[in-house]
Amino acid sequence: MPKKVTWNAAAIQETIHEAKAYGFSIQETAPFDWTTFKHKRDAYVKRLNGIYEKNLKNDKVEYLNGTASFVSKDVVKIVGQDGQEQQVRAKKILVAVGGRPSKIGVEGEELGINSDGFFDLEKQPKKVAVVGAGYIAVEMAGMFHHLGTETHLFIRHDKFLRTFDPMIQDKIMDEYKRQGLHIHTNSSQSKLEDLGNGMKKLHYKDDQGESTMDVDCVLWAIGRTPEIEKLKIENAGIEVDDKNHIKVDKYQNTNVDGIYALGDVCNAGMELTPVAIAAGRRLGDRLFGGKKDAHLDYTNVPSVVFSHPTVGSIGLTEPEAREKFGDTVKIYTSSFTAMYYAMMEPEDKGPTAYKLICEGPNERVVGLHILGQGSDEILQGFGVAIKMGATKADFDSCVAIHPTSAEELVTMK
Ligand code: NDP
Repeated sequence: MPKKVTWNAAAIQETIHEAKAYGFSIQETAPFDWTTFKHKRDAYVKRLNGIYEKNLKNDKVEYLNGTASFVSKDVVKIVGQDGQEQQVRAKKILVAVGGRPSKIGVEGEELGINSDGFFDLEKQPKKVAVVGAGYIAVEMAGMFHHLGTETHLFIRHDKFLRTFDPMIQDKIMDEYKRQGLHIHTNSSQSKLEDLGNGMKKLHYKDDQGESTMDVDCVLWAIGRTPEIEKLKIENAGIEVDDKNHIKVDKYQNTNVDGIYALGDVCNAGMELTPVAIAAGRRLGDRLFGGKKDAHLDYTNVPSVVFSHPTVGSIGLTEPEAREKFGDTVKIYTSSFTAMYYAMMEPEDKGPTAYKLICEGPNERVVGLHILGQGSDEILQGFGVAIKMGATKADFDSCVAIHPTSAEELVTMK
């Protein structure tokens, strides 16, 4: 939620710049007011949290606020913030504690922040170094840049979002460079030093060799780790994999009868909030709703990166599809300039790129990858179609909505 409202702020900044091309004479008389925005955002999140707590009460859920650990396979100890302890015995226990940002192991890394720290920033940094190559690094680098911070993104290979389709990797990387983000490829960091006055010196290596950079913020975003240390899962005999994820089957059962796990703490699915919520609903249906086979199907889960522009992805990437289906794979692509940019100078025009991946004689759609304005909203409906097993012919049978960008998805040749 706080990420999306910040992304909205960055998108508004883009629109202010672009509005001039549509005949508006907008004078920016002051920079973005980060501090005021941050406090409004905090209040919004607090309000939301209050609503969730109220809903728990309405549903007559007894809410115990504290840190939990297993005493045995059916007893959990909860230590409240005031140090008070209590124990709860239950026939069924669900572990859904999520994860926390991984540590990078660089000297002085504690001088930097992680994604939680991003939301705590009271003032907008003038110059930031973002380290990482996944959702969080790409999203936060995009937001910093568009809100006016000089942004340096450090990635350890030559591309970011490397789990995405190669078309997405190439296009979003080129677009970030075009927009003026500084991308340091094949980089590593050796030290972070405190210079006082809120400034830090980052020691790093990249394609250009060894160097240092003075910044007022370093943000580490190199992945997340399951948050299981305090749980004392050994007291219940719960098994984990080599990355400390709790092992579960497709029904979210752990190896211990009556103990379940879901979300980022377990080894199934993907680290996405709606995935955990969906898995939780299925588990509730199965354990208490009489739906004996209810479980989440982790295939064809749509996801979006709130980059600038947004990226949407569902199903297999082209390399994954070729490995799975070989020569029966057929690819459709479309790369164009959205009509929105018609009024703009060439240097202000952003990209739109779509890829449809089909398989077999019926051309079943097994992957869809989209980049461009509105991709976040476009993907959901196409996700339903793909989940239902749509073919290319099904896509083509839907009449285009003209003039939109999404119409390209039903007119691809
Ligand atoms: P991710 O797992 O998405 O990406 C982290 C990336 O950082 C790695 O893939 C790796 O990329 C790179 N990396 C790892 N170690 C290092 C290192 N030592 N130095 C430099 N780079 C490194 O993690 P995030 O932290 O971005 O996000 C965590 C999870 O949160 C994600 O899995 C995502 O599912 C979820 N999330 C989802 C969002 C959404 O749906 N919009 C938004 C935010 C988070 P490489 O191998 O290429 O170097």
